[in-house]
Amino acid sequence: MKCLIIGAGPAGLSAAETLRKLSDRLEITVVDGERLLYARCQLPGVVAGRLIDDFRPPDFFTRNDIELIAGKRALFLWPDKPQVLLEDGGRLRFQVLLLATGARPRKLEIAGEDLRGVFRLNQYRDALHIARWEAGKAVVFGGGPVGVALAEALRDRGIPQVTLVVKASRLLAGQLDEQGAERVAKALSNRKIAMVFGQNPAQILGNKKVQSVGLEDGREFPADIVTAAKGVRANVSLALRAGTGIKVNPCFETDRKGVFAAGDCTWVRDALSGETVLPGAWSLAVEQGKRAAQGMFWRLRHPEGSWQESDLVPYGEPFTKQYAATIAGVPLVAAGLNTYPGEVQVWDAGRAYRRLVFRGDRLLGAVLMGDIAGAGVYNWLIRKGRELSRREKNALLRGEVFSLMLSGEPEQFCAK
Ligand SMILES: Cc1cc2nc3c(=O)[nH]c(=O)nc-3n(C[C@H](O)[C@H](O)[C@H](O)COP(=O)(O)OP(=O)(O)OC[C@H]3O[C@@H](n4cnc5c(N)ncnc54)[C@H](O)[C@@H]3O)c2cc1C
Repeated sequence: MKCLIIGAGPAGLSAAETLRKLSDRLEITVVDGERLLYARCQLPGVVAGRLIDDFRPPDFFTRNDIELIAGKRALFLWPDKPQVLLEDGGRLRFQVLLLATGARPRKLEIAGEDLRGVFRLNQYRDALHIARWEAGKAVVFGGGPVGVALAEALRDRGIPQVTLVVKASRLLAGQLDEQGAERVAKALSNRKIAMVFGQNPAQILGNKKVQSVGLEDGREFPADIVTAAKGVRANVSLALRAGTGIKVNPCFETDRKGVFAAGDCTWVRDALSGETVLPGAWSLAVEQGKRAAQGMFWRLRHPEGSWQESDLVPYGEPFTKQYAATIAGVPLVAAGLNTYPGEVQVWDAGRAYRRLVFRGDRLLGAVLMGDIAGAGVYNWLIRKGRELSRREKNALLRGEVFSLMLSGEPEQFCAK
């Protein structure tokens, strides 16, 4: 039984691994357009001059009896045939297919974007190009996770002047509350990273090579390298029908039987906010890949069947936002809806900062900074929506999560 997976990122590889665990009789092929397999989260590290770790052990594919076709892009999926066309003209047949093609950075769509010295960071080779570019003044566009990581990486590389230009009024506006974002801004400022808020780029100026950037308010900043991290676009070209991302059901099957999608190319509903979003996080891609593999395995045994709730391993606890990083040496975790109205409780003890948002007796969002011990417990409680007593709420605020673990469901906490 032939399982084909396009994309060897965390979604694709966790699906392949799960399929192999489910049966040793499946034929599993993974195709990726890149030759080198790596974790994208490590790309800012490459910019900073660090080496990347192995994403999977070197014998991962042989040990799991998975065929890897690396360095060949999939170009086309026939609408009426279970076949995929590769860029070298080869065709691959499948009984079940997983699209795990990820996302790519958005273009800025402004003048000067194609000048030399203007980069977006998505692939290993982008990171190498940025790392090798001689520069004394850098401008980074975008105050989200990738923009912040890039600004730090450029400083780590020794560029003396780094300016981060952010459209929102604060950093990490999608992840953090104001107080949390201020702490991050202070940490970056201590690292001599300048920040400009409330501004978008208007144009990039130069003659063949970038020389400066112009902002919406008319200000101009000299720059010999510009990196842009202003959101992503899902890679949906293989899907028959897709909007911003590929739509899937709770088992990650698309509207075509036998074709699944997982990770950053999908469009999923945030269970807490009800908003449709691109997942955009490593751990969620891994989790979605696992769930999709279970759906693919079910489909192989029921080629014409319709999903019944009782047949399915549903998509675990509801999906919601998750972000983890270390910024200027400070570990940070943000989960759930941190900027939504609710009962807000803050614990600010110097290095350790905790901000919890409750809706009634349920935890809706959590920001942990400095001390992230027990982050999995907060995350689990948010996703599970479990009711909390006043005593438990207080314990969470003080970071005493182990008392909660002792009072129930410890195995689930450990599994996260
Ligand atoms: C610079 C950077 C830093 C990041 N930092 C973090 C972080 O700190 N924490 C975090 O949680 N997340 C981070 N992310 C996001 C995280 O990397 C992604 O959410 C995650 O990689 C998504 O996994 P995926 O498997 O869906 O897609 P990807 O990891 O993007 O993998 C998709 C794969 O599909 C391949 N592909 C695409 N189209 C085709 C095709 N037509 N044919 C063949 N192959 C194809 C691509 O080559 C790629 O290898 C970062 C992302 C970037 C770019």
